[in-house]
Amino acid sequence: MHRLDVGRVRAEFPTLAETVNGRPLVYLDSAATSQKPQPVLDALDAYWVHDNANVHRGIHELSRRATEAYEGARLELARWIGASDAAEVVFTTGTTGAINLVAHAWGLDNVREGDEILLTVLEHHSNIVPWQLLARRTGARLRYIEIDDQGRLILDGLDHLLTERTRLVALGQVSNALGTVNPVKEVAARARAAGALVLVDGAQGAVHSRVDVHELGADFYALSGHKMCGPTGIGALWARRELLDSMSPWQGGGEMIHTVERDMSSWAPVPHKFEAGTPNIAGAVGLGAAVEYLSALGMDAIVEHERDVLRYALEGLAAVTGVRVYGPESLDERSAVVSFTMGDAHPHDISTILDSQGVAIRAGHHCAQLVMKHFGISATARASFYLYNTRADVDRLVEGLEAVRTIFG
Ligand code: PLP
Repeated sequence: MHRLDVGRVRAEFPTLAETVNGRPLVYLDSAATSQKPQPVLDALDAYWVHDNANVHRGIHELSRRATEAYEGARLELARWIGASDAAEVVFTTGTTGAINLVAHAWGLDNVREGDEILLTVLEHHSNIVPWQLLARRTGARLRYIEIDDQGRLILDGLDHLLTERTRLVALGQVSNALGTVNPVKEVAARARAAGALVLVDGAQGAVHSRVDVHELGADFYALSGHKMCGPTGIGALWARRELLDSMSPWQGGGEMIHTVERDMSSWAPVPHKFEAGTPNIAGAVGLGAAVEYLSALGMDAIVEHERDVLRYALEGLAAVTGVRVYGPESLDERSAVVSFTMGDAHPHDISTILDSQGVAIRAGHHCAQLVMKHFGISATARASFYLYNTRADVDRLVEGLEAVRTIFG
């Protein structure tokens, strides 16, 4: 395996050259959204400048080009996640859009009163609230896999949690709040053996690992483009073809129909059945370019690099007096996200002080209030790393935290 040339990578991300509060920017908030490399910006620019037209319906040259670019991005993404059929990839607004699509299009027809949906305490609100809304409408019950004091799923009781009423197990691949890498394959195998379907929230997983939806054992897989070098407002739902075929559309409109009569319509084949209205064509083109960019660098090299920076960060933070890091102790069980608190300093104050030094981190509950509740806290500070971060970035983080320590003691 080749090593990632981080210097070259950094040079391709123009935003990283920004100066913030008089210091060169250190961007440690990629779990919220990643920066974008020049090839993605160029692809977006080229689309808007040369190819902009609506897709599918047009006979003219520009529409043909736009359609080719849009469908080409779908093919690219399908290959990237190991899908055998590009029609299994539905473009959505992101992970949130994908999960809500499943909750409506699959959930309303397949979940009944007394049925159960199994989630985990680690979930992002995007993988909790849609199921709460579904449960409220159907009378289904939500159950949760608990976590231990390292933020790892407790799977001892899984066989009791999985009952003949469990219709779906929905879990994240990687926790955005703690960086925990969940044993998705194991949970999926046990869930499917119990007759449940499995939805994997890949918002953080697709960023930090090579994904093969079949190998994971997923029935549904959701991801967001903006966390993996693509634009905002675009993401995807992958699902097995027969599952998508069996589901009713969620939203109605143009693009998703075959014929329209006065009282009823028939649907276009998947994936178009689930893509009502003019889609985010530029977003898809940008996401396709992002996938191409990441593929060319090689996910193995990216993961290896992130691991080095993560190890270095964990060592660095451990050396700062008063810092408490949350999440698994073993590097093998965590991804490039580090959540921490620091004595009496509020995470917002930590973030503000770091920002004054040009270091961007996130502070808050990270849309994972159940995780915060588990640890009896309301917020953490979170540094998240991606392919363009370096050990020097970690040094700047640690230097900033030393400043926090001198202020808060
Ligand atoms: N799931 C996880 C684990 C996330 O980290 C996020 C975003 O932070 C989401 C879901 C929601 O993603 P989006 O806002 O792109 O729909």
